[in-house]
Amino acid sequence: MARIVVLGAGLAGLGTALLLARDRHEVIVVERDPAGPPPPAETDTAWNDWQRRGVNQFRLPHFMLPRWWQLVREQLPEVGDALPAVGARRVNLIGMLPEEQRGPIRPGDERFDTVTARRPVLEAVLSAAAATAGVTIRRGVAVTGLTTDGHTRVTGVLTAAGPAIPADLVVDCGGRRSALSAWLQAAGARAPAEERSDSGFVYHCRQFRSGTGELPSALANLLHHYDSLSAITLPGDNGTWSVVLATASRDNALRGLREPSRWHAAIARYPLLAPWADAEPISGVDVMAGIEDRCRRLVVDGDPVATGVVAVGDAWACTSPSVGRGASMAMIQAVLLRDLLRETDPADHDKFARGFDEASTRVVEPLYRATVWTDRHRLAEMAADAAGTSYQPGDPRWAMSKALFAAGLADPDLARGYASIAAFIATPDEVFGAPGVVDRVVALGMGAPRYPLPGATRTELLAALS
Ligand SMILES: Cc1cc2nc3c(=O)[nH]c(=O)nc-3n(C[C@H](O)[C@H](O)[C@H](O)COP(=O)(O)OP(=O)(O)OC[C@H]3O[C@@H](n4cnc5c(N)ncnc54)[C@H](O)[C@@H]3O)c2cc1C
Repeated sequence: MARIVVLGAGLAGLGTALLLARDRHEVIVVERDPAGPPPPAETDTAWNDWQRRGVNQFRLPHFMLPRWWQLVREQLPEVGDALPAVGARRVNLIGMLPEEQRGPIRPGDERFDTVTARRPVLEAVLSAAAATAGVTIRRGVAVTGLTTDGHTRVTGVLTAAGPAIPADLVVDCGGRRSALSAWLQAAGARAPAEERSDSGFVYHCRQFRSGTGELPSALANLLHHYDSLSAITLPGDNGTWSVVLATASRDNALRGLREPSRWHAAIARYPLLAPWADAEPISGVDVMAGIEDRCRRLVVDGDPVATGVVAVGDAWACTSPSVGRGASMAMIQAVLLRDLLRETDPADHDKFARGFDEASTRVVEPLYRATVWTDRHRLAEMAADAAGTSYQPGDPRWAMSKALFAAGLADPDLARGYASIAAFIATPDEVFGAPGVVDRVVALGMGAPRYPLPGATRTELLAALS
C-alpha cells in the first residue's frame, strides 16, 4: 500500500482521500485553511461560522448531480448514509417537473435521484467520513512546493511551516488556483500543457430558507434559459435552496442585478422563478465573475513532465459552473485514480503517470470539452440577445440541444432525455442515438420559440432593473 499525500481538503481532496483510504492506502490530506468543520449535524454552524478562505465558492450554491450521487452510493456508502441523516435533501430531477410535463413517475426514474446540500454541509460530512476512514487531515498547513529525487520524480511536498512531507504519490487537489505548474517548473520540470480562458459569465446568487422546509411550489428543470439571462434553482439541505442569475460579464446593462432590490425586481418578471425568491434570504446577493475554464495535462509531447504527482478535480480541469458538473467530474476522476492504483504500483513511476493521463484524457476530458462547448454557445447566444440579433451558429448540435429542451416540455420521454444529459448520466450522443429521438425532437422542438419558458424579454428585464 502506498503513502499518499493529497493536497487540499475540498470536494475532490476529501472524495479522493476517502476512496484511497478504503483501499488501505496511508492517506494524509494537507489543507491550507486552518479551521476544521463543526460536527456534521451542526449544519447552521457550518453555514454561518466555518471559515474557508481557500475556496472562493464555499458559500455559493452547489448542487450535486445524480451522477455524483450514483458514485457516492456505489463507492462511498457511508457518505450516502450520512448526508440524509443531517438533512441533505433527496431530490429527483424528473419528480421536480410538473406532472403534465413528465407524466406519471415510471420504473427507472430513480436514476434521476440525488441528495444535495449547501457546500459547507457537504464538506463537513465528507471530512467526518474521511476521519472515520483513517485519513489524517492536517489543517493550517500550506504546501509551498514539491520535493524531487533531483530529477523530475516528485517525492513529497514542501510546507510553509515544518518539514517536508514525503510521499509515494502526491495528488494535487488544490482547486482552480492550484500552483502545480509553477511548482513543477521551480523543481526543474517542463511546464504542463495548459489551456485557459475566462468563461465570460457572472453569477448573481442568493440563498433562501423556508419555514416549512418545503421547496417552492413552482416546479421546473434546474436550469432555465431566458432572453439575456440564465437562471438556476437549486434545492439544498434543511429547507434551504438557492437561486442563481447568470449573465454575460460583458453585458454591462445587467450589472444592476448585483443590488438585492433589483435582483428581486428582475426575478419577479419570471413566473417559474418568482416563488423561489419569496422566502427568508440566508445570504446577500453574492456575485462571482472571472471564472476560468482551464485544463492541464502532465504528459506533454508524449512524455510525463514529472512523475510521482497527479492532479484531480479543479486542479486538473475546471469550468464555469453553469451546469454544476465540477464535483461529479472530480469524483469520476478520483475513481479512475483509485482503480489505477489497484492495477499499477505508483513505484512504477513512468507507467503510473502515463496511465493516469491516458485515463483522464479518455474519460474526463470529453466531459470538460462538452461543458465548455455548451457554455461557449450559451455565451454567444447571450451576446446575440444583447445585440438584438438571433444566434445562428450553424452548429446543428446546438440547434438540436435547444430543440430537445423545448420538445421535453411537451413529451415525457424527451423530458427524460433532456434530464439524463442534465443529470450527467447520459451523453447527448446516447440520448439522440435512441430510436426515433431525432425525428421527435425535430418535430416537437425545432419550431419552438428561442426561449420557450414564460419570462421577461430583454426590454422588460432592463425595465425591471431601471
Ligand atoms: C460559483 C461556483 C458554483 C459551483 N457550483 C457547483 C455545483 O453546483 N455543482 C458542482 O458539482 N460543482 C460546482 N462548482 C464547482 C466546484 O466548486 C468544484 O468543482 C469543486 O470545488 C472542486 O473541488 P476541488 O477539491 O478540486 O477544489 P476546491 O474545492 O477549490 O478545494 C481546493 C482546496 O485546496 C486547498 N489548497 C489550495 N492550495 C493549497 C496549498 N498550497 N496548500 C494546502 N492547501 C491548498 C484550498 O484551501 C481548498 O480547500 C461550482 C464552482 C463555482 C465557482
